[in-house]
Amino acid sequence: TNIWRDVPPGPPDAILGIAQAFRECTAENKVNVCVGAYRDEKGQPWVLPSVRSAEEIMLSSENKEYLPIEGDSAFVNKALRFAYGANAPLDRIAGVQTLSGTGACRIGGEFLSQFYSSKNILVPDPTWGNHHKIFKECGLTVGTYRYYDRSTNRLDLQGMLEDLRNAPDGSTILLHACAHNPTGCDPTDEQWDQLLDVIRQKQHLIFFDSAYQGFASGDAEADAKALRRVMDAGYPMLLAQSFAKNFGLYGERCGTLSVVCHDAAQKDILMSQLKCIVRPMYSSPPKHGSSIVRTVLSDEKLTQQYYQECASMADRIQTMRQRLVQALQDAGSSHDWSHISEQIGMFAFTGMSAEMCDTLTDQYNIFLTRDGRISIAGLNDDNLGYVAKAIHSVTD
Ligand code: PMP
Repeated sequence: TNIWRDVPPGPPDAILGIAQAFRECTAENKVNVCVGAYRDEKGQPWVLPSVRSAEEIMLSSENKEYLPIEGDSAFVNKALRFAYGANAPLDRIAGVQTLSGTGACRIGGEFLSQFYSSKNILVPDPTWGNHHKIFKECGLTVGTYRYYDRSTNRLDLQGMLEDLRNAPDGSTILLHACAHNPTGCDPTDEQWDQLLDVIRQKQHLIFFDSAYQGFASGDAEADAKALRRVMDAGYPMLLAQSFAKNFGLYGERCGTLSVVCHDAAQKDILMSQLKCIVRPMYSSPPKHGSSIVRTVLSDEKLTQQYYQECASMADRIQTMRQRLVQALQDAGSSHDWSHISEQIGMFAFTGMSAEMCDTLTDQYNIFLTRDGRISIAGLNDDNLGYVAKAIHSVTD
C-alpha cells in the first residue's frame, strides 16, 4: 500500500527556489543577485582568514564532545558582549546558543508563545520572509506594521508609528537591529526616538533580530547602536543574533537567543526554561561555528584581524552600491537611484516590480527575488555593466 499517496508537494521556498533555478541555468552570462551570502570580487564565497586561523588552532585543541543544552557558555558570553557591549550586564541576560539567526528566532518565538501574555507579534512590511513562517509555527499571531514607502523608497515613519499605536498594548514588535532586510533602510536616531516613545507608551516588547552586526557599516559597535540604546533605556527585550554574515559562517549555524531579565535570579529561571525548549527540539547545538567565534573573540590579535576583514566586506559592498548607481547612469538611466546608495547592508531594494524582475530573469539570466531586491555582494567587475544595462532596459 502507498501510504503517502495523498501528500501534496510543498511549495518551493521563494529564495532557495531561485538559487536552484540559477544552478540549473546553463547560460554563460547568468548572474546570481539573489544569494544572501557574501561573494568576493571574483564572485566566490570567502572564508575569512581569521576564521581559518581559528580553525587551525582548533584542530589540535578541540574535541568532539556534546555541548551542553544551552551551548558553549564561553561563546555565549563573548557573543552577548559583541552585541550588547563590553559592559553588558551578563548576570541578568539569559542567553543560549542557537542554530544561527533562524534558530534564535524560533527559540525566542517558542519562549514568547509559552510565557508571554500577548501572542501577537508584529513584523515589518516587508521583512525577511521566514519571519512570518517561524513565528506562525510557534503559535503566535503574526501581523505587520508599515515600514517602507514604495513611492518614495524611504522609511514610512508615520505609517509605522500609527501601526505601533494601533496594535494591542504589550504586543511583541520585531525590529531589525540594523541593515533591514530586504529594504536596506534603517530608522535615523531621531526616528528611533519617536518609535521608542510609542513602544514605551504602549508597553510593547521589543524582539531585535540582528543578522548583520558589523556587516552593515563595517563597524560592529556602530551597527549595535539601536540595540544598545534600547538596552540602556531599560526596555524589556529579546535578541536573536546570527554570526552567518559578519563571520561568514553561513553553513555553521551559529547564533544566540537572549532575553534581558529583571535580575540574576530571574535569569536563572529563564535559562532553565530556554533549556526546556531546546532539549526536545535538537538536544544541543553544533560545536564548530561557536568554537570559531569563541577562538577569534578570545584572542586580541585575531579579534583585530577579524574586525578588519569584516570591514573589508562592508567596504566592498558599499563601493559596489555607488558603482551600481554610477553604472545605471552610464547605461543611460535618468531615474533617481539615490536610495540604492543610501541603503545599507547586503541588499539594494531597487523598487523594480515583479514583472520587471521576471524580465531580468527570463531575458537576461539575472536571478533575483521578485520584490526587486538585489544582493550587492553578487555584483563584481565582470557583471556590473551587464546588470546595470539590463536594469536600465527593464525600467526605462
Ligand atoms: N534575520 C534576517 C533579517 C536575515 O536576513 C537572516 C538571513 N537571511 C536571518 C535572520 C537568519 O539567517 P541565519 O539563520 O542564516 O543566521
